[in-house]
Amino acid sequence: MALFLKPVFQERIWGGSALTQFNYDIPNDLTGECWAISALPHGSNEIENGPHQGKTLEQVWEEDKALFGNDKRNKFPLLTKILDANDKLSVQVHPDDAYAQAHGEGYGKTECWYILDAKEDAEIIYGVNTDNQEELERMIDNKAFDALFHKVKVKPGDFFYVPAGTVHAIGSGIMILETQQSSDTTYRIYDYDRKDKNGNTRELHLEQSKAVIDVKQTNPNTTPKHETRNGQAYTQFVSNTFFTVEKWDIEGELTFEKPYEYCLVSVIEGSGEVIIDGETNHIEKGTHFIITSEDLDITFKGDMSLIVSHP
Ligand code: ZN
Repeated sequence: MALFLKPVFQERIWGGSALTQFNYDIPNDLTGECWAISALPHGSNEIENGPHQGKTLEQVWEEDKALFGNDKRNKFPLLTKILDANDKLSVQVHPDDAYAQAHGEGYGKTECWYILDAKEDAEIIYGVNTDNQEELERMIDNKAFDALFHKVKVKPGDFFYVPAGTVHAIGSGIMILETQQSSDTTYRIYDYDRKDKNGNTRELHLEQSKAVIDVKQTNPNTTPKHETRNGQAYTQFVSNTFFTVEKWDIEGELTFEKPYEYCLVSVIEGSGEVIIDGETNHIEKGTHFIITSEDLDITFKGDMSLIVSHP
């Protein structure tokens, strides 16, 4: 039986109210993040169905590893979020696994973004305009941020792979679905001197940032692979040691071959049904679930687009 998940919402100073387009009951109009598939202790989803109903994904991961192919990892490895950037996010960088573990911060964070929606001329920051470490540090010390940050225009349907060490920021007017290593370790480089509702600026982490920024990382370096599989449009955006992320555009019926012991599924457009071992579940834009090791016979019916990921 698949695990259907109840989203967890997070208020952010850059958030908005656009997550209502997923029919979510958001807490307020500064809702920045929907944690859609999360086992992080401070925001793990509740299971909505089946024998584990009412437990968190974090608990189920601990108690019932058979659902996850007896995955040997200590923690649930992935995190899926939807972000509504009504205003721009801080410019940040994440450490890799080696740096995070050496500094007691669990996993590093490599992430990737599927652009769900973007205003005309919306842009992100991706990488830096220097390939020299000393110049990087000098520019950070001199707060020469406008010259330092490399900007890229985005449109709906674009995909960006953001390895640990890449300077990045989502610009205003962008909604993304983010798949990432399950980590919340962020080093903030620049926050536009913004103050929150209590008049406080958010902490910056310039020394850690200098230590982890990879100046060579300036290009969103994946080439999506498009093909027709089992009669439906399939796209693989990225596949590496951290995660595989793919998209299905289904019109009609798809006999779904599980790509891995378990996989994370988000419906990003349309609606229909998923029939799992004879049991029919209605799904629609904004539904998130995990197909587990125990789920064997899986069929999707309807008109919809899915983002599917697995470690
Ligand atoms: Zn990030």
